[in-house]
Amino acid sequence: MKRVDKNYFPGWVRKSISFTIDDGNLEMDKKFIDIVKPYGIKGTFNIGNFHFDKLSPEGYRAFYEGYEIANHCKYHPHVFADGVEYVIKDEPHPEHAESENAVYASAQAKGLFEKEYVKGWRKITDVKNYIRFTRECTASIKEVFGAQKIGFVWPFGRQNSAELFELLKKEPFYAMRQTGSTKDAQGFNIPADRTAWSYNANHSELLSVSESFAAYPDDGTLKAFIFGVHSVDFERSGNWCDLEKFAREFGNRPEEYWYATNVEIFDYEDAVNALTVTDEKIENPTDIAVYITVDGERIKMEPHSVYMI
Ligand SMILES: [Zn+2]
Repeated sequence: MKRVDKNYFPGWVRKSISFTIDDGNLEMDKKFIDIVKPYGIKGTFNIGNFHFDKLSPEGYRAFYEGYEIANHCKYHPHVFADGVEYVIKDEPHPEHAESENAVYASAQAKGLFEKEYVKGWRKITDVKNYIRFTRECTASIKEVFGAQKIGFVWPFGRQNSAELFELLKKEPFYAMRQTGSTKDAQGFNIPADRTAWSYNANHSELLSVSESFAAYPDDGTLKAFIFGVHSVDFERSGNWCDLEKFAREFGNRPEEYWYATNVEIFDYEDAVNALTVTDEKIENPTDIAVYITVDGERIKMEPHSVYMI
C-alpha cells in the first residue's frame, strides 16, 4: 500500500504563521501592517470598540485588505461576573464610584454601564446585553466587510461568567479566543479547543518563542505559530524593531512557512481531516485545495476532487 501523508499546508510545508491583533487601532494597525505586509505575513484583526466610523466602508475594506476581521464585541465591555452583586445606578458615573460594585449608566447604549477598575473606568454589561453587543458587532463586520465566517475574541480576556461562556458557544462563531501566551506548551499544534484558544506569544515574547517555533522538530503534524495581541503594545514598549526582525527572518519563506489568517488555518485543518483515504483512492470533499504526498510525490488535491492511487 502506498504511503499517504495528509499533513501539509499549501506549499507542502508543516508550519504556519499568523497573528491575532485586537482593538482596531487604525494608527497602530497601519504601522503594524506596513511592517508585516511586504513579507507576506497574514493574520486577523479583532475589532469591536469602534463603530467603523473613522473611514468609509470602502476605506476599511482597503485598509484591512487581505486580512481577516473578527468580533471583539461592540463597546469592548466586561460582563457582570458570577457571584458579584452589582449596584446599578441610572445616572452617569461620578469622579469615583460610590462603592466597589457600583455600576453607572453609559450614555453610549441602553444596557451598557461603566465600572471603575484600578486602571480606570471601563464598560460593563449583563449577559443578555453582552450577547446583543456581540451580535451587533457581527452585523457591523458583515455590513462593512461582507458575509464571512466570524471568530470571537474576548475583550479583557475570558470573563468570569459561566452562563455567558455557554451562550457564546451557541453563537455562530467558528472559534473563541481568550488571552494569555501558550508559548510552546501545546507543541505548537493548531489549538485543539476552539472555544478557548489563545496565541503563542505576545509582542515581548515574539522573538524568543518564534525561535523555538523555527527550531521545533517536524513530528509529522501541522504546526502553527500565532502571535498577538495589540499593535499598540509595540509602540508602548518601543519594540517595533522586534516585529521588523521577525518579519525579516520569518516572512517571504513559502518553502518553510504557510502564511494565513486564523480562520484559514482552522479551515485548512478541517479540510485535511475531511479527506478520505482508501486503498484505491483519496477524496477531497471540501471547498479547499489540500496538499498531500503519495509515496513522497507531491499531489495538490483540488476542491471536490478524487485521486486514484
Ligand atoms: Zn481589546
